[in-house]
Amino acid sequence: MQRFQYYINGEFADGEARFESIDPATGLAWAEMPEAREADVDRAVEAAHKAFHDGPWPKLSATQRGKLLYRLADLVAENAGKLAEMETRDTGKIIRETSAQIAYVADYYRYYAGVADKIEGSYLPIDKPDMDVWLRREPIGVVAMVVPWNSQLFLSAVKIGPALAAGCTMVVKASEDGPAPLLEFARLVHEAGFPAGVVNFITGFGPSCGAALSRHPHVDHIAFTGGPETARHVVRNSAENLASTSLELGGKSPFIVFADADLESAANAQVAGIFAATGQSCVAGSRLIVERSVKDRFLQILKAKAEAIRIGSPLDMATEVGPLATQRQCDHVKALVARSLAAGAKLVTGGTAPEGAGFYYRPTILDCDGSVSPSLDTEFFGPVLSALSFETEDEALRLANDTRYGLAAGVFTQNLTRAHRLMKGIRAGIVWVNTYRAVSPIAPFGGFGLSGQGREGGLEAALDYTLTKTVWLRTSDDPIPDPFVMR
Ligand code: NAD
Repeated sequence: MQRFQYYINGEFADGEARFESIDPATGLAWAEMPEAREADVDRAVEAAHKAFHDGPWPKLSATQRGKLLYRLADLVAENAGKLAEMETRDTGKIIRETSAQIAYVADYYRYYAGVADKIEGSYLPIDKPDMDVWLRREPIGVVAMVVPWNSQLFLSAVKIGPALAAGCTMVVKASEDGPAPLLEFARLVHEAGFPAGVVNFITGFGPSCGAALSRHPHVDHIAFTGGPETARHVVRNSAENLASTSLELGGKSPFIVFADADLESAANAQVAGIFAATGQSCVAGSRLIVERSVKDRFLQILKAKAEAIRIGSPLDMATEVGPLATQRQCDHVKALVARSLAAGAKLVTGGTAPEGAGFYYRPTILDCDGSVSPSLDTEFFGPVLSALSFETEDEALRLANDTRYGLAAGVFTQNLTRAHRLMKGIRAGIVWVNTYRAVSPIAPFGGFGLSGQGREGGLEAALDYTLTKTVWLRTSDDPIPDPFVMR
């Protein structure tokens, strides 16, 4: 069995305890992982705290930080194949997707390498004579980064990249479900030459490791991605250290199809939106809202596409849908489909698990018209689409916004003015028009409502890892006249 180590203060070491990682394609243990508990968490945070205040890191110029990030980007590109295989093995995400996504992760590091020396302060036109006042942007400090199992290299890159560009130090907690790719990535951080303690990688369980990390007194900011319930724990933990938080949470994103849309193209986008990554995507377009006049035709196209999907080993390049990441996730999907059917949803296709080992579940479509199916407001994080139909544009918009989440939305129409009305009316952090699931390091990403707060990606994300410092400099040589008057 392969053994992984964590990375603290520039050294690889075994954890206080160990646990087995399960291959979702077989349901069998394939690797042993280090388990960080309170003492390891403390060592990692103290290493990051020391690296932030002493040693070479705070003395580097922003351009030098950028150069280290460029080196890291090159290493990610060179090692993308190996990292992709590791992520696929440990999480079940298909190799077709991990290969493409991890190659793109290199571009995220490259983008933030370029951002490092473009984080500028400003000069204020102050309302007083003889006074120069300006704002400096300084790194926020030690950042705790907590990520879920899906796309860990991607979800950590959108935190590590901007945080390093800003000059922070960090402890990255890989998910206990599939930590292999991040622990392997630590080797590239080491090779890139970041000073010891700047980036530390640990893994462990939520209540022991994640909680100890998010309430640690030397943590200044918590960058969290995961479910809303866990986010509540994290926010409560942050009451201990008063760290600021950014939260990237779940979604129940609407995918709206009007009768005038190119239905074939929209169906391909819908397949990508709900069945890619076996539905384990925060932006999954999991609520299809389709104009009634084309509902049957659109569902027929989707059904044919869903039934033609190749389910198989995630390590096979031909596979289109692999297993879910964990048994727990598989059980959740099965139970929620059963509850939805009991509540009146009708099965269009899927609804079963294929025979054999592993945490597989067939691409599933539920027709929810006329029911109060729990599938309409509960996140599956699995390959299950819930469909509703509408008659008017107002009704489509009302259904789209009928959610406590607000991460993403898709609008498919040829009507330009309608597209503009909907992109304004939809309450979500991302609206895709005639496309879906497109991302870029240049474009901010994040949600409204229960989908979280803060944005990842883009220049602003790097500013979120800084604090402003206001500097006042008196330019007069005259003595200060009256000490009892505020100036
Ligand atoms: P989760 O919330 O169960 O776990 C996320 C992380 O939090 C894990 O590393 C876990 O160990 C840690 N954790 C658990 N309890 C904790 C505690 N008490 N204190 C601190 N940390 C704790 O999420 P999951 O089930 O692994 O992932 C699925 C969820 O993530 C879905 O809701 C999905 O939508 C969301 N997600 C959101 C985005 C986004 O960018 N908005 C991206 C991917 C996934």
